[in-house]
Amino acid sequence: MAQVSIERKENRFVQELLSPSDKLLLSSTRDFVDEQIMPVRRELDESTRSDYGLVEETLKKMLPLGLQGGFLPEEYGGMGLSSALTTALLAEEMGRGDAALFTSLMGGILAMRPAIKTDNREVLEHFAPRFVQEDELCLGCFAATEPQGGSDIENADLMGSGITCAAALRDGQWVMDGTKVWSVNAGLAGAYCVVASTDQSLGDEGIALVYVEVPTQGFTFLGFEDKEGLRGSRQGGFELKGVRVPEGWRAAGPGWDAELLWDNQAFARIVSAGLAIGMAQGTLDEVLAFTTDRIAAGKPIRQHTVCATMLADIAMGIQAGRDNYVNAAYLYDRPEVYGDGASVHMLSRASAAKVFCCDAAINVTNRAMELMGSYGYVTDYYVEKYWRDAKTLQLWEGGAQLSRLDVVRGYYDFDQFHRNELYERIREIS
Ligand SMILES: Cc1cc2nc3c(=O)[nH]c(=O)nc-3n(C[C@H](O)[C@H](O)[C@H](O)COP(=O)(O)OP(=O)(O)OC[C@H]3O[C@@H](n4cnc5c(N)ncnc54)[C@H](O)[C@@H]3O)c2cc1C
Repeated sequence: MAQVSIERKENRFVQELLSPSDKLLLSSTRDFVDEQIMPVRRELDESTRSDYGLVEETLKKMLPLGLQGGFLPEEYGGMGLSSALTTALLAEEMGRGDAALFTSLMGGILAMRPAIKTDNREVLEHFAPRFVQEDELCLGCFAATEPQGGSDIENADLMGSGITCAAALRDGQWVMDGTKVWSVNAGLAGAYCVVASTDQSLGDEGIALVYVEVPTQGFTFLGFEDKEGLRGSRQGGFELKGVRVPEGWRAAGPGWDAELLWDNQAFARIVSAGLAIGMAQGTLDEVLAFTTDRIAAGKPIRQHTVCATMLADIAMGIQAGRDNYVNAAYLYDRPEVYGDGASVHMLSRASAAKVFCCDAAINVTNRAMELMGSYGYVTDYYVEKYWRDAKTLQLWEGGAQLSRLDVVRGYYDFDQFHRNELYERIREIS
């Protein structure tokens, strides 16, 4: 049995869908992962328990690859990278190394995408130059989640009614008030895209994506979360109190901003699916190596039939997950044929990929740990890290349940507010 699947090594399945520059980016990212991340994965994780020194050093080394600035249009010094497929494949490569590093850069990508998609020149001209510089690390932050919950903001059926962060237009400036939590790079980023509401009663028309530059008066950082996994990326909260930004820093306008929000959600879920499969693939590589050398009852663990069938389950989960996210990304990249990123159909496909791949990664890391016995649980190997990291992915972007509701919406007119006469009658009686 090959140590590493040929499919992953050569990405044969998708080669013909990629441009020459995307192929080059993928192969240089893979080389970076093999040479600069795999040998120091443990040190990277340990760095998060002290000063994050190695994490920041590695993120800086990644800048010339273009994994963050590359998403900006060429006229702003980027590479015009917009393909969900390429992004998800990059995420898979990075997920195999250390998913947290890519998560940190995704903060900037998700923050800048609304401005890129609408060609908001005022925002791009102001913020883009920092993201394309290669000597200094500039992080971005896409801030949606609030203390009362993330799902009520990400739930498209609630049409922004769950957003309490307020954006009010006064004297040609947006005045921002509210609290955000759990946002990647909060407290570290220079550029924030804040999900706010101009008026909760306006539905989608009231949703506003407003850019904030930090430091600025009225911005207070509230601290980082202390997480079990994905430790190399930091999530935190912040408060906005009367923060003022130029009027042109709203991504687009009423109605449009909501579409950008739902579109970002679909895109992020496809990328998360790639990240999850990267972790699962890294786990398979680990467990194949371990079960070759480890002998039980006179033969390598992987030569025991029951263990071989577990390895088959692991391999099938990875392969089905990869096919799933590649398929969803292919559809996302062709909005003229399959509908745009904000459509119910696309969110359904993207969510299906995310749910399936995150569940697969959790299952794969669990099974691999069993195959490695107690060694699966110790820090001498990496399966315990993949296991910790994989669980986190399931919990973000609306969690496991809201994502499933988004899946089902693509199949029938699921209505979570549905009431029938019998229900109403019983409620009245009780
Ligand atoms: C590592 C990490 C990184 C993150 N990065 C960011 C970031 O960059 N920016 C950002 O804004 N947020 C970020 N988040 C927050 C994340 O998006 C939210 O945690 C997520 O949306 C869920 O919100 P919640 O935790 O408040 O759970 P809740 O909204 O309280 O939901 C709890 C559970 O209820 C389920 N649920 C919710 N609504 C329904 C419903 N209508 N029907 C059935 N079930 C439902 C959910 O699926 C979930 O299982 C991050 C979280 C993590 C863990």
